[in-house]
Amino acid sequence: MGDFSAVLADWPNARRTDVCQNTTQAQVARILTKDNLAPVDFLRLLSPAASDMLEDVAKRAHQLTLRYFGRAVSIFTPLYISDICTNQCRYCGFNAKNKQKRTHLSVDEAFKEAKFLHDQGHRNILLLTGDAPKISSPAYMAEVVSKIKPLFASIGIEVYALSEDEYSLLVKTGVDSMTMFQETYNPELYAWLHPVGPKHDYHWRLAAPTRACQAGMRSVGVGALLGLEAFEQDTFATGLHAYWLERTFPGVDIGISIPRICPHEGEFEVQHPVDDRHFAQYVAALRCFLPRSCITCSTRESAYMRNHLLALGVTRISAGVSTKVGGRSTAPQDNPGQFEITDKRSLTAVCEDLANLGYQAVLKDWEDPTESSAQTACA
Ligand code: SF4
Repeated sequence: MGDFSAVLADWPNARRTDVCQNTTQAQVARILTKDNLAPVDFLRLLSPAASDMLEDVAKRAHQLTLRYFGRAVSIFTPLYISDICTNQCRYCGFNAKNKQKRTHLSVDEAFKEAKFLHDQGHRNILLLTGDAPKISSPAYMAEVVSKIKPLFASIGIEVYALSEDEYSLLVKTGVDSMTMFQETYNPELYAWLHPVGPKHDYHWRLAAPTRACQAGMRSVGVGALLGLEAFEQDTFATGLHAYWLERTFPGVDIGISIPRICPHEGEFEVQHPVDDRHFAQYVAALRCFLPRSCITCSTRESAYMRNHLLALGVTRISAGVSTKVGGRSTAPQDNPGQFEITDKRSLTAVCEDLANLGYQAVLKDWEDPTESSAQTACA
C-alpha cells in the first residue's frame, strides 16, 4: 500500500516553489481543458500564473462542482465535548498553557447538548475533544457516541490521532467519518508549532487518516491550517494527501477541509496570511484536481465568503456553531471557545440563505439501509 510520507518526500519544498514560479499561463490554460489532473497540474493551478487567471480557473471549478454535486450542500454542526488538552499548539486557544477554565462533559451532559442540536434540526454532527487521552479516552468517546447515535444520521469525529484499533472501536459504535488536520505538512515547522505533548509526533498524526481508512471509516477528511506555511506548500501537500488517499482507499469518501487561521486566546503571529483571492484560488484548484471530493468550509469564514465559495467547489458547511464546550442546554459555561467564529448564522438562517442562492441544504446525505424514513433536507 505504501506510505504517504514517501509520496510527500518526492515533492520537497524547493521543487514545489520551482514548479509554481515557472508555470506559464499557457500551461494553466491547457490544464483547464484536461479531465484528469496529475499532482503537478494541481500545483500549477496554485501558481502566480494561475492566480492571474483566477476567473478561468473558477469557471472550470464551477462547471465541475455542478457536474458532480449539483446544487446540494451538506450541513453539519460541531459539538465540543471537552477542551482539556495536554498539547501546547502555539496557535490554539485550548493550548494547555492558557489558564482558562476547562470543561469536560459527562456522557449525560453530552447527550443533553446533542439532543438540543437534534431538536434544532441537525442530523449530521461532529464531535470534538482536546488531546487528553486519559480523560477524553476512546472508551469515553464510544460511550458518548452510543448514547447519541439514535439522534443522528451521521456522527463524525475531529479528535487527536488514534490507533487503528481505537478507530475500529468508534466505527463499530457508530462513527462514520473522521477529520484530521495535519496543521502543516512541513515537519520542522510542525515540530516548532507543537513543542510538547502527544501531538508533537508528526508521523503518527500524518498516518492517522490511513489508519482510519483501514479501520473502516466511511468518510475521511484532511486539511492544513492555512497561514502557518507559505501558500503553495501546505495547499499542495493537502491536495496530494487527499489524492493519495482516494487512490489507496477507493471505497472511502475522501474530503478536504480548508481552515484559515483565526484570532484566538494567547499570542500568535500568523506568518503567511492567506488573502481572499488566494483562498478562492485554493478552493477552485482543489475542485479541478479532485472533482468528486467533498470540500468543507467552517464558520472561521464569513457568511459572504462561504456563500461565494459554493460556486467554486465548497460542498459542506457548518451551521449553528459554537466552539465552546457545553452551554447550549447544559449550565452556561464561561470557558472561551477554541477560536472566534465569523459566521454566526443559525441552522435556519443558513438554510434560508442557501435556498435564496438556489442551493438545497442537505441535513442527511446518506441513508442507513436499516432505517426506513429520513429527513433529507431543510424544511
Ligand atoms: S489544536 Fe487541538 S491539540 Fe492543539 S492545543 Fe488546540 S485542542 Fe489541543
